[in-house]
Amino acid sequence: MTFYAFMPKTTLKITLLEMSGKALELIYAACRQCYSEKSASDIFLSCADKPETVVAFIKKVVSSGHESPLEHVKFTFAVEGVSRALTHQLVRHRLASYSQQSQRYVRENDFDYIIPPSIEANKQTRDEFEKVMREIQKSYSKLLEIMSAEEGVRGESANQDVRFVLPQAAETKIVVTMNCRELLHFFKHRCCARAQWEIRALANEMLSICKEKLPAVFTGAGAKCEDLGYCPEGEKFCCGKFPLKEKILGAQ
Ligand SMILES: Cc1cc2nc3c(=O)[nH]c(=O)nc-3n(C[C@H](O)[C@H](O)[C@H](O)COP(=O)(O)OP(=O)(O)OC[C@H]3O[C@@H](n4cnc5c(N)ncnc54)[C@H](O)[C@@H]3O)c2cc1C
Repeated sequence: MTFYAFMPKTTLKITLLEMSGKALELIYAACRQCYSEKSASDIFLSCADKPETVVAFIKKVVSSGHESPLEHVKFTFAVEGVSRALTHQLVRHRLASYSQQSQRYVRENDFDYIIPPSIEANKQTRDEFEKVMREIQKSYSKLLEIMSAEEGVRGESANQDVRFVLPQAAETKIVVTMNCRELLHFFKHRCCARAQWEIRALANEMLSICKEKLPAVFTGAGAKCEDLGYCPEGEKFCCGKFPLKEKILGAQ
């Protein structure tokens, strides 16, 4: 069995696989249906004649907080070059769909890993980190070798147990689908300077894609302070971009 002297580190890559077609028309028709005697299908078709009215109306809907019409439009992203530490946080967002590369079915020979910038910046910490990654890879491969030879445990039965030695740094791939309402919520929490750096980088990339594809919904989106005009995180976590909540609203 080969042990790899060099193991690749990797970085974030996001691809927009798909978004709902006719997104503006969908949101407009769903929202207008609430207040109109007409059918949503007629409202949907009428959008072609008044694109500016549709955009202006949707911007008003988003800022008013009438968010349920936004649930009809979804974005699907392919995410790779992220750590298992990131996806553990990502999947806490329950109003979304996920399909993640399995460590049972995909053997982690020569696994890629994510190295945090603070560790990479210093030669001593980087060397130590990379040494641990190599040792884990070695043990992972050794365990698989022993199990297949002595115990006769092969394939996914071996993978599912041997993966217990893999680090949170191990690279993973995941497909994520969120609707616009959930995306706005996700950005509020994960674009915030308080969020962990890797999921913040992911959220910021997703946000710039969403802004480009659907500006009527996402132009003002981002960390919750962008919407509130103050920081609700308290002095310890405030990044300083906006004043603290207490400074704006007074002591509660
Ligand atoms: C900076 C930061 C630090 C964190 N630290 C920790 C930590 O130390 N430990 C930890 O365990 N987690 C931590 N989390 C995760 C956090 O507690 C949430 O689990 C995660 O952000 C998902 O948020 P959510 O539940 O609002 O999102 P979603 O699951 O996407 O839900 C969206 C919204 O839907 C509603 N909703 C969804 N499900 C329910 C439900 N069952 N009941 C009622 N309402 C519901 C809520 O309004 C919710 O805000 C942290 C998150 C952040 C951003």
